[in-house]
Amino acid sequence: MRHYTRLSRQNYAIDLGLFPLGSCTMKHNPRLNEKVARMPGFADVHPLQPVDTVRGALEVINELAHWLIHLTGMHGVAMSPKAGAHGELCGILCIRAALEARGDARKVVLVPESAHGTNPATAAFAGYEVEDIPATAEGRVDLEKLKARLGPDVAAVMITNPNTCGLFERDMKAISDAVHAAGGYVYCDGANFNAIVGRVRPGDLGVDAMHINLHKTFSTPHGGGGPGAGPVVLSEALAPFAPAPWVVNTGDGFKLVEREEDEAEQAFGRLCAFQGQMGMYVRALSYMMSHGSDGLRQVAEDAVLNANYIKARLEDLMSPAFPEGPCMHEALFDDEWLKGTDITTLDFAKAMIDEGFHPMTMYFPLVVHGAMLIEPTESESKQTLDRFCDVMAELA
Ligand SMILES: *Cc1c(COP(=O)(O)O)cnc(C)c1O
Repeated sequence: MRHYTRLSRQNYAIDLGLFPLGSCTMKHNPRLNEKVARMPGFADVHPLQPVDTVRGALEVINELAHWLIHLTGMHGVAMSPKAGAHGELCGILCIRAALEARGDARKVVLVPESAHGTNPATAAFAGYEVEDIPATAEGRVDLEKLKARLGPDVAAVMITNPNTCGLFERDMKAISDAVHAAGGYVYCDGANFNAIVGRVRPGDLGVDAMHINLHKTFSTPHGGGGPGAGPVVLSEALAPFAPAPWVVNTGDGFKLVEREEDEAEQAFGRLCAFQGQMGMYVRALSYMMSHGSDGLRQVAEDAVLNANYIKARLEDLMSPAFPEGPCMHEALFDDEWLKGTDITTLDFAKAMIDEGFHPMTMYFPLVVHGAMLIEPTESESKQTLDRFCDVMAELA
């Protein structure tokens, strides 16, 4: 027992301290979620059980699906993808199915330079050629250059909003309108949804498909604590192409629509053997219901406030990559301030470990030299943020 306990204590964990990984959103995982997920009716269900014996579990999936649709202003949701990257694949396959259904095979997916590596990887895996969209000097998609590139060969544009520089893409609606006018679809990487949940509905911005990392926005554990879950919300145009299975309320109880039934005839097939990550669904729904809609809005507001607090406290000591204006839920610095010191971003991160902190995300996004991307999340107190900033300032 002592051997394993000793080993477990060699890991840094969210329960030990701040985990300021930008883009990865490591927030507190409330124990309430764990308690609910461990109730035997949820923890012991098996995907091969007769549907009659798991109606409650189906109702949970259905309820969570409705929360996701409501919060994003979208039309439908594919629940089964098991991570963000898996959700991206699901969304891009829906787009491909929709294009094929209208006899319009397109070849190219456009991705901004600052995108997470999973975006171009997903598009390539689905058989598309990937082309970069250039960024403006202020770290956002260059709308004019994007418009100039749109045409009959572009299947989709993949955009992250807020983007990986921690900035809101203010032109999102104009981007979506231009992509739609050119016959393409808009994929939004929703990994940063925790910055806007309750404040902005991606459906209102013209998004056609967006994955939601339940393990980032909705507090389910990830990494070594996984598995994750990456449901994909879909617009009216794409919803008919979602992979089976999905849950419907017949009025007389919940049932699963499988592929062979009429309702699913346009589905591109199945993405997973079963319905998805039941344990994560329960945890995410427990988090949503314990916050309520107003509470979820405050999650976004506090996440953005905390990141701006860190930016304000460190911007005179370190060099913010985009100093103009406030950031969203993560503060991005480059290594300009280390110039001439022989110290690198990596050295600085190791010094943080010496001081008992997990480092921030380093060298990502790639468009920022020596990037240091700090995301405190909403669940850290001012006291913790001050201690973190004090240590950062002392190291600097
Ligand atoms: C985390 C993340 C992903 C991938 O999600 P996984 O659940 O790790 O597969 C995609 N895009 C962005 C911006 C992310 O932060």
